[in-house]
Amino acid sequence: MTQEGSAASRPDFDAIIVGAGFAGMYMLHRLRKLGLSVRVFETGDGVGGTWYWNRYPGARCDVESLEYQYGFSDEIQKGWTWTERYAAQPEILRYQNYVADKLDLRKDIQFLTKVTAANYDAQSGLWTVETDKGDRLRTPFCIMATGCLSAARVPDFKGIDEFSGKWYHTGNWPHEGVDFTGKRVCVIGTGSSGIQSIPIIAEQASHLTIFQRTANFTLPAGNRPLAQEEITRTKETLLADRERARQTRGGLICFEYNEALAEEMTPEAREKELMTRWTQGGFAFLGAYGDLMAKKEANDIAADFARAQMRARVAKPEIAEKLMPYDHPVGVKRLCLDTGYLEIFNKPNVELVDVREAPIERITKAGVMCGGKEYEADAIVFATGFDAMTGAILGVDITGRDGQKLREKWAAGPRTYLGLGSAGFPNLFFITGPGSPSVLSNMIVSIEQHVDWITDCISKLTSGNIRSIEATKEAEDQWVAHVNELAAESLYPQANSWYMGANIPGKPQVFMPYPGGVDVYGQKLAEVAAADYEGFLLGA
Ligand code: FAD
Ligand code: NAP
Repeated sequence: MTQEGSAASRPDFDAIIVGAGFAGMYMLHRLRKLGLSVRVFETGDGVGGTWYWNRYPGARCDVESLEYQYGFSDEIQKGWTWTERYAAQPEILRYQNYVADKLDLRKDIQFLTKVTAANYDAQSGLWTVETDKGDRLRTPFCIMATGCLSAARVPDFKGIDEFSGKWYHTGNWPHEGVDFTGKRVCVIGTGSSGIQSIPIIAEQASHLTIFQRTANFTLPAGNRPLAQEEITRTKETLLADRERARQTRGGLICFEYNEALAEEMTPEAREKELMTRWTQGGFAFLGAYGDLMAKKEANDIAADFARAQMRARVAKPEIAEKLMPYDHPVGVKRLCLDTGYLEIFNKPNVELVDVREAPIERITKAGVMCGGKEYEADAIVFATGFDAMTGAILGVDITGRDGQKLREKWAAGPRTYLGLGSAGFPNLFFITGPGSPSVLSNMIVSIEQHVDWITDCISKLTSGNIRSIEATKEAEDQWVAHVNELAAESLYPQANSWYMGANIPGKPQVFMPYPGGVDVYGQKLAEVAAADYEGFLLGA
């Protein structure tokens, strides 16, 4: 694609992509296939995104490896063999590097470069993308593949700089690894990252203190080596499986939802269904009956069941009780899959501090001050999560039409049409942006869904001599209202989760992902495209 005009109106690249995780890598591949010139910027010095940064001990996927992989190329999937049901971080990162080699992606990625700003110029119809390395490049299409869980967040505790030991965040883990052998370690946070890393840190540390603010539902992952027959079967069926996955609520086919409602089942049948799915491991548990995620009374039955299973893993009843989640329905915060998490509280060198009872006051030179007591430590691990869904997008100073700042537009919560674009920001796309199923799904299915849609869209625009696409305010308002309505009908708002922005003080509390399912959402995407991008303004 080429463009005529003066130097100021000529693009440096046909498209610029921010981020080189699963989303940025696949987006680059697809746009290059269209014959476009593309530049990717990535803060890290390698591909991988989540799996490049989250190198903490125990990091692994919670969607099964056989589904947590690209499904767009038979050659790529046939050339790779997963070893475990839930692959560990090093294996996933090796896979991503294998894909980058196979598709020769790195030549178009500028690593160690953070995009700082993107400014739209209505006259030329171009975005100027600026980086911390001094680049200023113009492009008609700017695509944010910046990740939903990529802006790691350390809470604003006073005194961190005074701490005499070393501290780490799980989402920005040292590449050389950390040896905690013989060390006194404090871990703050008991979400998925804490729950995965704590058992391994506990094996090494002389003493481990765990600071828990919210107890979480966790079930044994049931990780195991994959059997040869599973691997062979998936290699034959993955592409068809992926097509099937797109027709499901969560982008997953490793389990099916039981459509029967809780009240339609006998207590014995419910118990059996819950037990089968609990033992299976993974998210199958949340599909035990049709209204588990929709009706509080139905959810309570599953939550009671889960607590009973969890309680049985902890020897001391008073500690078990502290580990029980009572303040939110099961599944409305990300369900944690663990490997030996609750059992570590039976070890003599492990101590649980309930932060709700006694808040963390500050970090001191010697450790963590909490409830008037100082917990001494040689190392502190912040497993405190991310500024999710909007943090990385708004980390870039984005200015759209008429000088409008995205940060200001989203001050009361993100506003998008379909999670793909925002009114006033022509030709700016978000992959798995707020307002799309993203984090409620197998993310690779949702990433592929968006990348495919954006690729088709750009292809149609450029071949039809259309210069710009921009969500209309009306379509955006309707979509935001629709997402809010769906969320309000669900149990999701009943938890202080990062889905709601509740983990960040001062962040607007809005349910951010689209909770209607990958299948329904995919249908909507197809309809919008088929109706000449209904809800978008196309500019010649
Ligand atoms: P990311 O992988 O986050 O990549 C975004 C990239 O953009 C990063 O490398 C970042 O450095 C870069 N970037 C951001 N801002 C800028 C900027 N301004 N300039 C330059 N570069 C920038 N999802 C699942 O479906 N299943 C799982 O099992 C699963 N496990 C997870 C485990 C962990 C520990 C975490 C944190 C998340 C997990 N997720 C999982 C979600 C996961 O984030 C997605 O599955 C997927 O990897 C996201 O890919 P992405 O390319 O969209 O974003
Ligand atoms: P998270 O779920 O947000 O958990 C952060 C933890 O830190 C929570 O326990 C939180 O408590 C606590 N915390 C935050 N600020 C605190 C403070 N000021 N004082 C005390 N405690 C504080 O983050 P995460 O564990 O990194 O996981 C984020 C998401 O990434 C997951 O939900 C999942 O989608 C993905 N992930 C997946 C896997 C996997 O299994 N494959 C692994 C890791 C991450 P509150 O709950 O009270 O806020």
